[in-house]
Amino acid sequence: MGKRILVVADVRNGALRNVTNEMLGVANRLAQGGAVHVAVLGHQLDLPDFGAAGADDVWVMDDAHFGNYTPSLYRKAVIEVIQQVQPQVVLFAHSAVGKDLAPAVAMRLGLGQISDITDVETDTETPTFIRPIYAGKAFTKVVATSEPYVVTVRPNNLAPYDGAPKTVNTHTVNVTFDDADLSTIVREVVRKATGAVDLTEAKIIVSGGRGVKSEEGFSVLYELAEVLGAAVGASRGACDAGYCDYALQIGQTGKVVTPDLYIACGISGAIQHLAGMSNSKVIVAINKDPEAPIFQVADYGIVGDLFEVVPQLTAEFKKVMV
Ligand code: FAD
Repeated sequence: MGKRILVVADVRNGALRNVTNEMLGVANRLAQGGAVHVAVLGHQLDLPDFGAAGADDVWVMDDAHFGNYTPSLYRKAVIEVIQQVQPQVVLFAHSAVGKDLAPAVAMRLGLGQISDITDVETDTETPTFIRPIYAGKAFTKVVATSEPYVVTVRPNNLAPYDGAPKTVNTHTVNVTFDDADLSTIVREVVRKATGAVDLTEAKIIVSGGRGVKSEEGFSVLYELAEVLGAAVGASRGACDAGYCDYALQIGQTGKVVTPDLYIACGISGAIQHLAGMSNSKVIVAINKDPEAPIFQVADYGIVGDLFEVVPQLTAEFKKVMV
């Protein structure tokens, strides 16, 4: 018999992030013919065609209180939808918001949680989730022993729904808050300007390390990134040296990314950095030290000075990227 799966959409600035479509793809595989529900919280939401994305039911909570992520309010709203839908599995993105919200919901409802999945096998009655362990050096298979349970999905790893468009039932949910709920309100989020492309959802990342040598040195990386439509990332070495903001840091204590193409410039390839990027589909390393460990994980290696190599790449890509 099919299952009911609830996806909690990942929304930023009123728009859905790609990982929501990836979660809807997973949800359809888990549902095995059952119903896929999606809960969307935000303010002045720009809703896509959820039928094409694989949802059967959409639960919309469009309220000024949801304009910024406020843990207590989001938690209450999501629990309200879970109680109405009674799903067997609830999917959250393994994003900044999802990592905070999923365990809070799971704890309140006494549910188990499987975190940061990168794949799922659905050919048996009970799905088997695949997740990285030991900072990405190995993968483990996890099975839930009771339902319902909560799962967080790593962005950029799973395919969106590609089946026939569905007819969607849309439900509007009005959540009421009492004084205790409103004891904390996030009034404004002041974001640092860290580039136009979201690092965790970027298809291409140009990343710089201590070899970039200065804040100004990063300009050659930004030029290449602009031509490629890429995001700029960094090693902790570069962030610690003050060359760029910590929001760009990739690695064990930074962001985990899985782009189609990762270009590492002047990064040695410490294990803590690899933990954040080694699952990238294609890795290109530019380093003047032929013994640098980054070359062990790179698909393509360029031994050379990044200040000579990167501008040449930018010039060549300019010729082919219209
Ligand atoms: P370096 O190791 O100094 O490497 C610089 C590289 O640039 C060298 O290989 C050099 O050959 C090359 N180079 C120099 N000049 C040029 C040039 N002109 N052209 C080409 N190449 C050049 N690190 C992270 O990145 N992310 C993390 O999340 C993270 N978390 C950590 C957590 C813990 C608990 C600890 C202990 C460490 C963590 N680190 C992390 C730090 C990590 O161990 C390394 O120190 C760091 O990744 C090194 O950064 P780097 O590669 O930029 O610098």
